[in-house]
Amino acid sequence: MSSELTIKRIAIFGSTGSIGTQALDVIEANPDLFSAEVLTAHHNDELLIEQALKFNPNVVVIGDEKKYAKVKEALASTDVKVFAGEKALEEVASMDCYDFMLAAIVGYAGLKPTLKAIENGKIIGLANKETLVVAGDIVMRKAVEYRVPIIPIDSEHSAIFQCLVGETRNKIEKVILTASGGPFIGRKPNYLVNVKREHALQHPNWTMGAKITIDSATLMNKGLEMIEAKWLFNLKPEQVQVVIHPQSIIHSMVQFEDGSIKAQMGLPDMKLPIQYALAFPKRIKNDFPRYDFKKINTLSFEEPDVKTFRNLGLAIDALNKGGNLPCVMNAANEIAVYAFLRNRINFLDMTDVIEKAMQSIPFIANPTLEEYFESDGEARNFAADLIKL
Ligand code: NDP
Ligand code: MG
Repeated sequence: MSSELTIKRIAIFGSTGSIGTQALDVIEANPDLFSAEVLTAHHNDELLIEQALKFNPNVVVIGDEKKYAKVKEALASTDVKVFAGEKALEEVASMDCYDFMLAAIVGYAGLKPTLKAIENGKIIGLANKETLVVAGDIVMRKAVEYRVPIIPIDSEHSAIFQCLVGETRNKIEKVILTASGGPFIGRKPNYLVNVKREHALQHPNWTMGAKITIDSATLMNKGLEMIEAKWLFNLKPEQVQVVIHPQSIIHSMVQFEDGSIKAQMGLPDMKLPIQYALAFPKRIKNDFPRYDFKKINTLSFEEPDVKTFRNLGLAIDALNKGGNLPCVMNAANEIAVYAFLRNRINFLDMTDVIEKAMQSIPFIANPTLEEYFESDGEARNFAADLIKL
């Protein structure tokens, strides 16, 4: 691990995504604190090459093996090592050329490289919530075993983490996750059934990757975050509450045993939790826009409508029952979102696919890692068959 005087070497897994590119902005703005040593992309070779030429990392990985030759050739005049394929992500996660893994791959694909980074003793900055939804018990146990800190980047969990600094001896009564409600807040099923991809991709407060934007529109994102919170902060399901807060100024709250509630606030900007995780335990001065009470002078709160946004109800079921159910739900959701983004199913069909997968895949109360992998595969196949993908 680097000392305060040395530069923290960052590996960004998913550097071409929404979180990855914002993390590179933070690194670029703080060259005396951070360097980018590993960059990875799945298909976006052009951006990966551009990033590699700019940041001169130790290693890059392109997931799509067909693009290896192009990336290799473009970086031929540099010292950057080029790898390709899914396995390469795990191999690179096991290298010593970095101190801190920013886990910013989207979906289940982020799980295996993150497990390798933990086994390699690296600090994890976790944006990839699916990692904890799929196998939270195993990931957190491994982090304890290898004494690896997991610092959340998801804005709600970063807020809770920030509220908990200095409170190690104090018990949490509950955490309150805030949700913007997404673009369809207040809408009913008769409206949602006709919602198109382009409309669902317009989030009112945040600009993010396509998958999480759809998850925000269905409220599945908040369900995934409830499960993420349970594992990160060692909570019982009933200690995790959700409240709709359309302004996205309060990023989440912690209520302690004395009834006192701490909140973390600010404008919605992912650079803040990214920077906080990279620099933790320090805060870095920056010139990001500040929240102005005169401009946004009303903060409002309401109950989530789980009858309309049934994905949130399904996620609460998965949170309560545990075992492989969150893993199955996550896999079916990834397939359903993929199909919706390709106009293969409608907005409400996504919920039916997830619900049927959760009812059909055999329940396992205490899965091994292998059983999680198997449950993920079974749920994906089941959902794809149902949609006829
Ligand atoms: P994006 O879709 O914008 O980026 C995903 C990144 O992962 C890209 O670099 C992409 O490469 C890469 N990738 C995609 N599929 C695979 C795969 N199968 N194997 C390896 N790499 C892959 O996602 P976001 O940045 O929005 O989200 C990343 C994670 O962070 C998600 O888990 C999300 O839930 C979480 N998160 C995101 C927030 C946000 O504001 N965006 C907020 C809070 C959490 P390529 O570009 O080549 O396709
Ligand atoms: Mg979030």
